[in-house]
Order: sequence, then structure tokens, then C-alpha cells
Amino acid sequence: MTATTTSALPRTGSGGRSATAGTSPPAPAPLPWALTASLVVVGAGLGATIASAVTTETSSELHAAGGVAMFLGGLTGLVGTYLALVMVLLVSRVPWVERALGQDGLVRWHRRLAAWPVSLIAAHAVLLVIAYAQAAHTGTMHELGTLVGTFPWMLEATVGFGLMMLIALVSVKAIRKRVSRERWWAFHLGMYLALALSFAHVIALGPSFVGHPLARLLWVLYWLATAGLVLAYRFGLPVVRTLRHGLEVVEVRRESHDVVSVICRGRNLDKLAVSGGQFFEWRFLARGMWWQAHPFTMSAKPTPPFLRLTVKGLGDFSQSLAELRPGTKVAIEGPYGVFTAHARKRRKALLIAGGIGVTAARALLEDLPVSAEPVVVLRATSERDLVLAAEVAELASRRKGTVHELVGDRNAVRLERLAQLVPDLRKRDIYISGPEGFVKSVVTMVGRMGVPAEAVHYEAYELP
Ligand SMILES: Cc1cc2nc3c(=O)[nH]c(=O)nc-3n(C[C@H](O)[C@H](O)[C@H](O)COP(=O)(O)OP(=O)(O)OC[C@H]3O[C@@H](n4cnc5c(N)ncnc54)[C@H](O)[C@@H]3O)c2cc1C
Repeated sequence: MTATTTSALPRTGSGGRSATAGTSPPAPAPLPWALTASLVVVGAGLGATIASAVTTETSSELHAAGGVAMFLGGLTGLVGTYLALVMVLLVSRVPWVERALGQDGLVRWHRRLAAWPVSLIAAHAVLLVIAYAQAAHTGTMHELGTLVGTFPWMLEATVGFGLMMLIALVSVKAIRKRVSRERWWAFHLGMYLALALSFAHVIALGPSFVGHPLARLLWVLYWLATAGLVLAYRFGLPVVRTLRHGLEVVEVRRESHDVVSVICRGRNLDKLAVSGGQFFEWRFLARGMWWQAHPFTMSAKPTPPFLRLTVKGLGDFSQSLAELRPGTKVAIEGPYGVFTAHARKRRKALLIAGGIGVTAARALLEDLPVSAEPVVVLRATSERDLVLAAEVAELASRRKGTVHELVGDRNAVRLERLAQLVPDLRKRDIYISGPEGFVKSVVTMVGRMGVPAEAVHYEAYELP
């Protein structure tokens, strides 16, 4: 690749583009009804799951020895498994849900929900061992051996249960912190295996399904739909996008002492629907790197055939990007994120970027119309940490906007000055991007200044 070709990319401005010209279509707008419809479907499924356990229970079964524990064991198992599948759906990257909640919103819900399926499935295992022991008038340990050794599909289910509990244990914050993100993620994938191992015993033994072909059919369809969505959106779509765009590194540019821009070239980028402010999961197919994908925001909208990301070297992976060689193939997953112009509720906008958070602000600016009169606040510890500032200034001035650079350490720069710098900030949409601590403190601060939550949009560069 020659310097002439890559110099077509924005270096100190928008690369000769007009303020409004776009080279790839924006990502589709979120569909609020799609989220409501998904919630209704999930709620109805939960209701049907509970109903199938309750309606198959007879009064004589309840009053028999171990009957109550048997009923509760069945109910907790079904509801727990149902919720486990909902958790899988939450991180399956189904586009219409991702567009409404964003990746971080989905991961947040996934985490919030996590304790429920794990506790319910653990309760299911304990209750059913007790129930069978009471019914057979034997000890629980003896009954556990009988269940695992003689009941169909119980050995597989027990292995799946053990794996699930191990993953749950490792996910506990105190332990999770000690495991590298990549190891934890690989280990976490074991949840798919754990669920698959448990599938057959539910169908073969569950009172809601034995002798109830319709309930069994619906349960199987639910599993197939979940597996289909995961395969299509988590694995299929990224493979298709990667092959379709055939990205490869053409240049690595140093932007500052610890920040580089990686410029990739690809095919059909004019057909890649992506909005400024969105990010991809990037996987560089080079030795020692191919097995991990990391999220990085596009630092400019695609200029076909080029796409750019700008990265601060913080850890092993981000630092190693400076060593990438031209020709390295790149796999992408995405685009993801709701930090886009679609989120706008007001005419005018204020963009506040902390450090490397400038990448999202820079690309988002490209999607803002002149009427947004954007005010951009760039926060950095020192002058050398202000990257892409010239591009931001040019894009802002083309939209009749202004840029404020707040440079200095935390004690020297009081962000509270914002109210004087941007007197009409309560009337603007406020977009905040950067490291998590920065984003949290600015979100809290603007909330205290009276900006309503629906006008505050943020992207925290925090890894799940
Ligand atoms: C949605 C999203 C968009 C992102 N966009 C960009 C982007 O455009 N450019 C960019 O440079 N980064 C971006 N990031 C952050 C980037 O993904 C991580 O910095 C990177 O993956 C860290 O990987 P690593 O292996 O190099 O560091 P790790 O080994 O994971 O971490 C190394 C050290 O750095 C610290 N660290 C890691 N990430 C951060 C962080 N974000 N802020 C402060 N300390 C951190 C860790 O606590 C650890 O001490 C984004 C993150 C998200 C979630």
C-alpha cells in the first residue's frame, strides 16, 4: 500500500468530505416496538413455562411422599432453564434488541439476571434429590447415586450442572477479578455446553413433557430458536461480514506516545451500515492475537475502501496493535452500540470526551447536522494526550460548533466549569465517552446540573 492511497483517509480533518456527505449508510434506527414485543414474548414464555409445571401437577401427586419437593423441584428447574436461555438470548447479539439497548445494556441485564437461573437450577437439583429420597424412603446420598447412575440422561445433566456451578463460581466478582478477561470469556463459553448437556434429561424426565407432546414441541422449538439466533447472530453474521468486507491492515499511524491509528482496507464498505460512535469487536489474525477480540470504536466513519480505529496502548493487546504488519487480515463483529445520532432528543448537542473517548465523539460528529451546532469538550491530562483534536476542530467548525480543550490533572481542571463554558447545556443532548470512571462522574455531574436522563447518552470504554 502506498502513502498516496492511505492519505485519502482523514488525518487532520474530514478528508475533504463535505459536512453532510456520508460514504456508508447509517446503521438502522432502533425500533422501540421491537424491544416491547421481545419483552412481551419473553414474559409470555415465562408464563407458559410456569403454567405447564402447575397444570400437570395433581393433588394426589402433591400429597404423596416427597410430592411438594418434587413439584417445587420441577418448577424451579423449568423456570431456571427458561431464564438461562433468556440470558443466552441477551448476549446473542440479536440486532433489533442490540439496537435498542446497546451491548452494554444487554450485558448489564445478562449480569443482573445471572443469579436467578443459577440459584433456581441449584434449588432444582437439591429439591429433586430430596423428593426422590422421600418417595423411595432412602437417604439422599444413596438416592443421588441412583438418580445419576440409572435415570436416562442424568449423568450428562449432572456434568452440565457441575460445569454451570463452576462457571457461576468463577463469575463471582472476587474470583473473576483474578482471571484474565480472555480466559474468563473462553471458560464462560462452557455455559453453552452445560445447557446442551442438560437438554435431554428435561425432555425425557420432566413431568411437564412426558405424555404432553404439545408442551414438548413448544419447549424444543424454544431451544431451537435460541440456538438458531445464537448461531446466526453471534457466529454466522460476523463470519459473513468478515468475508464480505475482507479487511486487512494497510497502515499503523502513531498519533501520540501511546496512541496509534490502525487503518484497514476492505471491500464493499459503502454497503456497511454503520453510524458514527459505534464500535466493532476486532480480531487481528496475526500470531498470538487471533484468538482474542477487543472492542474499539471507529475513529472516523468509513471512507471506502478504508476504515480506521484509534487505540490507546493500555494492556498487552492494545499495545501490540502498534506492531501490526500491513497485510494482516482482520475479522470484525458488529457494528454495535447506541451512542449514535439516532439517540438525539434535542436539536443541539454537547459532546464530552475523556482521553481516548475522543474516538466516539470524532466519528459521531460526522453524523451530526449543522443545526446541532455541536460544542465539543475534550478532556485530557496533558497536551500530548489530546489526539485527533485537529480533526474534531475541523468537523465542529463545519457544523458551526466550538471545541474546548480542558487539559491538566484532575485537581487543576474542574469539570464543573462546564456550566459556564456551555450555558445552554440543559437544552442540549449530552454525549459522554471515555474511561468508565470519567463517564460515571460526568453523567452524575450533568444529572445534578438538571439535565434529564433521556438527554444523556454515554459510552464507557469498560470491558465486560
Ligand atoms: C464499547 C467500547 C469501545 C471502546 N473503544 C475504544 C477505542 O476506540 N480506543 C481505545 O483505545 N480503547 C477503546 N476501548 C477500550 C479497549 O477495548 C480496551 O482498552 C482494550 O480492549 C484493553 O485490552 P488490553 O488487553 O490491551 O488491556 P487489558 O490487559 O485488558 O488491561 C490492561 C490494563 O489497562 C486497564 N484498562 C483496560 N481498559 C481500560 C480502559 N478503557 N480505561 C482505563 N484502564 C483500562 C486495565 O484495568 C488493566 O490495568 C473500548 C471499550 C469498549 C467497551
